[in-house]
Amino acid sequence: MEEVTGAQIIAEALRVQNVEYMFGIVGVPVIEVAMAAQAAGIKYVGMRNEQAACYAAQAIGYLTGRAAVCLVVSGPGLIHAFGGMANANVNCWPVLVIGGSSDQNQETMGAFQEFPQVEACRLYSKFSARPSSLEAIPSVIEKAFRSSTYGRPGACYIDISGDMVNARVDRDRVRFVSCCPPPPVSLAEPSAVGDAASVLKEAKRPLLIIGKGAAYGQAEREIKELVELCGLPFLPTPMGKGVLPDDHPNCVAAARSRALLQADVIVLLGARLNWILHFGLPPRFHPQVKIIQVDLCAEEMGNNVRPIAALLGDIRAVVSQLLGCFRKEGLALRQALPMNYYTVFHHVAQLLPRDCVIVSEGANTMDIGRTLLHNYLPRHRLDAGTFGTMGVGLGFAIAAAVLERDRRSGHRVVCVEGDSAFGFSGMEVETMCRYKLPVIIIVVNNNGIYSGVDPDTWRELEKMGDLTTVAPPVTLLPDARYDEVMAAFGGRGFLVRTQEELRSALELSLQDWERPSLLNVLIDPASDRKQQEFSWLTRSNL
Ligand code: ADP
Ligand code: MG
Repeated sequence: MEEVTGAQIIAEALRVQNVEYMFGIVGVPVIEVAMAAQAAGIKYVGMRNEQAACYAAQAIGYLTGRAAVCLVVSGPGLIHAFGGMANANVNCWPVLVIGGSSDQNQETMGAFQEFPQVEACRLYSKFSARPSSLEAIPSVIEKAFRSSTYGRPGACYIDISGDMVNARVDRDRVRFVSCCPPPPVSLAEPSAVGDAASVLKEAKRPLLIIGKGAAYGQAEREIKELVELCGLPFLPTPMGKGVLPDDHPNCVAAARSRALLQADVIVLLGARLNWILHFGLPPRFHPQVKIIQVDLCAEEMGNNVRPIAALLGDIRAVVSQLLGCFRKEGLALRQALPMNYYTVFHHVAQLLPRDCVIVSEGANTMDIGRTLLHNYLPRHRLDAGTFGTMGVGLGFAIAAAVLERDRRSGHRVVCVEGDSAFGFSGMEVETMCRYKLPVIIIVVNNNGIYSGVDPDTWRELEKMGDLTTVAPPVTLLPDARYDEVMAAFGGRGFLVRTQEELRSALELSLQDWERPSLLNVLIDPASDRKQQEFSWLTRSNL
């Protein structure tokens, strides 16, 4: 008959649950537990304070999705770990705390470091218990381990009285339990997924918020696909950073306040609407914002803001469900998501050669372009100039292209125009085609002077009556096909709506030295420059 000690039973039970790491501080009565854990193949890291040990163990849980153990002694040892347990529980991170406690037969007598440990841990954990016998230790450990990772993750506590550690029992009598499977994956209700997809499709300014739940749920591949398939802008919370790289073109972290305030539909992926997100309330959020909430904790749904769709389930699985809706129905959403100035210039700046001549005119186009499109050589920039003249661009570009050709410099001429500015001398594209001048014209088209309206609004205006009386004077024909003007004379015309189309059109144009190209880049007609932060710089004060 083989006998095993309490410490051995604990160690073996942890090993069966695939626990790899234990952090702690040993002393009476848990020294033997740490030694047995090492003997069972668990890595033991001796720390200097139980709080730090508990922080370390929970970070393993967050980073790997499998709980690690924090081992502490009775009384003050465990109390020191409360800070760590509270942190893990509030963060929704799994951790298993094992605390030694005073001998059972001295309970209530004023034993060494006696403290109501199981009761005290309730406030800091999802589960807190003491095995009633050596035989029951493995099943309590399995339950604690399972509770820490199933549902909303958190801290779990197991109390081991000092007398149990070295007590012995026949191995056959111990109720060993096999490894608990990974948390079952739950899917959101299909009708709620359908509702969410239609709300998202109707959105004018959608925003994805990526929280640390998405990081913990290892949903990076699915989220990347959703962002790129639908062209969704995203904002990471502090620990949601890196689920998608911060330099991803759809990351709007640099304009966090604006993004939060202006979004009309927000998909909340594993983030709570708590203080970190200003409770989801005005003045930081739009008063009418529609929240699509994805979380595996039902009690979280509706905290502070009632969601328009509550998708209860695992983030990775639920995002796959959403992807299913969008893959089936094509890229409708992407079409509905026009770019803004900043997105356009971000890509243009990445692709333009450093030595190109940049000609620019237009209101926002020139203002924003000046800060985002860089020049590296003298006399390589021509724009509306001292007189603020519109219509100079194409003439300037033709002159620059003739010079650069005669000099055989290999410098490209790129003309960045607002749609209104382009209109003043647009017919000069015929001149470019006639002389085979490989000018690249990028028309940043917002359907108007300063700003225009979208085709739907334009149709509404048409219904309202005579356009000369109802159309705002700043509007131009929505989605006008300036690219076809260029194509009419044999140049290359590109209609561009998405970031991918922009990049591929610009790359193709840069390869062609035989003829001019025109990229008609349709952007959000409501797109505007960033608001001036300084009141003394705004026009009304001049
Ligand atoms: P942040 O600090 O990034 O805003 P929070 O900690 O507030 O994030 O929110 C994380 C949320 O993610 C919690 O509500 C938690 O229930 C949830 N969560 C954790 N893992 C998953 C998962 N795999 N699937 C869905 N929701 C998850
Ligand atoms: Mg315009």
